[in-house]
Amino acid sequence: MEKNIPVLYQEKSDCCGCGACLNICPRNAIRMAADECGFLYPKIDVDLCVGCRKCTSVCAFQNTNENNTPLNTYAAVSQNKEQAVKSASGGIFASLAEDYINKGGIVFGAAFDEKRGVSHRSINKTEMLYLLQGSKYVQSKIGNTYKETKELLNSGRKVLFSGTPCQIAGLKSYLGTEYDGLLTVDIICHGVPSEKIFQSYLRFIEDKYEGKLTDFTFRDKNIGWGINGKAVFENQAGKKKKVTLWQSGSSYLFYFIKGWIYRENCYRCKYAGAHRPGDITLGDYWGIEKQHPEFLSDGWDESKGISVVIANTEKGKVALEGLQEVEFRQSTFKKAAVANGQLRHPSEQGKRSEILELYRSGGWNALEQMYQKKIGLKKYSSQIKAIIPQNIKRWLKANI
Ligand SMILES: Cc1cc2nc3c(=O)[nH]c(=O)nc-3n(C[C@H](O)[C@H](O)[C@H](O)COP(=O)(O)OP(=O)(O)OC[C@H]3O[C@@H](n4cnc5c(N)ncnc54)[C@H](O)[C@@H]3O)c2cc1C
Ligand code: SF4
Ligand code: SF4
Ligand code: SF4
Repeated sequence: MEKNIPVLYQEKSDCCGCGACLNICPRNAIRMAADECGFLYPKIDVDLCVGCRKCTSVCAFQNTNENNTPLNTYAAVSQNKEQAVKSASGGIFASLAEDYINKGGIVFGAAFDEKRGVSHRSINKTEMLYLLQGSKYVQSKIGNTYKETKELLNSGRKVLFSGTPCQIAGLKSYLGTEYDGLLTVDIICHGVPSEKIFQSYLRFIEDKYEGKLTDFTFRDKNIGWGINGKAVFENQAGKKKKVTLWQSGSSYLFYFIKGWIYRENCYRCKYAGAHRPGDITLGDYWGIEKQHPEFLSDGWDESKGISVVIANTEKGKVALEGLQEVEFRQSTFKKAAVANGQLRHPSEQGKRSEILELYRSGGWNALEQMYQKKIGLKKYSSQIKAIIPQNIKRWLKANI
């Protein structure tokens, strides 16, 4: 009998790379394969496939529309200073995860792996929390974590699963049923570059600073709440050198913020709005100084990071209410969305085609040259902003 091999996606923009199809395939006939720029797409092994079509039915990015609407929107900060400094914004994820682990739960999220790629993994001890904390501005590989989640839930364990909205939608579709023990957390997400692109950048900075990378973070909270990273290099003599990767001074952060190096489907993201797949949504409360100046004059320090937290379901609301070390203040979705474009619309492609063409032909060196030409003296702007005293910065942000 002839097999009916399905087509998983027509256009690249139809596939977010969530891996739900790979997780559901009963024959393990699907693997993720990288395209020229390193973006991962599912590929079917026709010899293994039996044509059951479970893979096409499970695809949430193509088949499912979310219809949750925000129940409550808060501005929030964690009182746990040690956790907040390791987190990208207000440290709310760490509090949720700690709470779940203390109740015997397992937490899934994105962590750097040994090859400085990013993969989803689980943790079951609070000492491991640091692995999942902080934003990694690269697509995280889901691997078999949906399958692992299902097994854990079926055995009665509680699971907190965090990730980009498309990963949460993929998980929910894969599970196909509600579980009381599952809490899902999506992050506000403007798009993901590929691991290949990220690693080209890492090789570039290793050459530039003449050392092996021993530590890397996209957002170093020790220099305030912003998108400024840190890298530590060790040279052949064993000497270490720490470098601040200022948002305006790092070509990777420059292209990332511009939105020119994301996966193709991110420009058609269905989750860039109020209808979100997670029980809870977490993001940065950008624009807090304009939307809620009263919170800042009443003691909140924005240099430590302030989160926007949205309860999308009753389950999410209850989980948030149980957090002892987080201070929540009421806001609205409308206010939170003013300076956070991803709560209103997907990113725009801008010069993506030109930039990726340049990358294909000349690698990161070509992108670096282009960045140097484009940015000029503006590359120092993040450094200058960082040394302006907080009260002056606050006044400038609120009035300009
Ligand atoms: C690619 C990306 C784009 C983002 N874009 C925006 C934006 O436009 N606006 C905005 O307000 N916030 C954005 N964020 C979210 C923001 O940076 C924080 O992650 C979020 O506010 C949670 O902060 P936190 O302090 O509570 O926890 P943190 O400890 O900072 O965050 C940890 C959480 O982030 C998840 N995470 C980290 N990297 C990844 C990844 N590569 N893939 C999937 N999950 C990941 C972890 O699983 C964990 O749930 C983005 C994050 C990422 C990873
Ligand atoms: S399930 Fe996910 S990875 Fe598979 S085709 Fe759909 S979007 Fe792509
Ligand atoms: S049709 Fe069935 S066997 Fe074939 S790839 Fe899809 S899920 Fe796997
Ligand atoms: S922008 Fe949308 S599609 Fe792209 S990674 Fe984020 S959630 Fe997924």
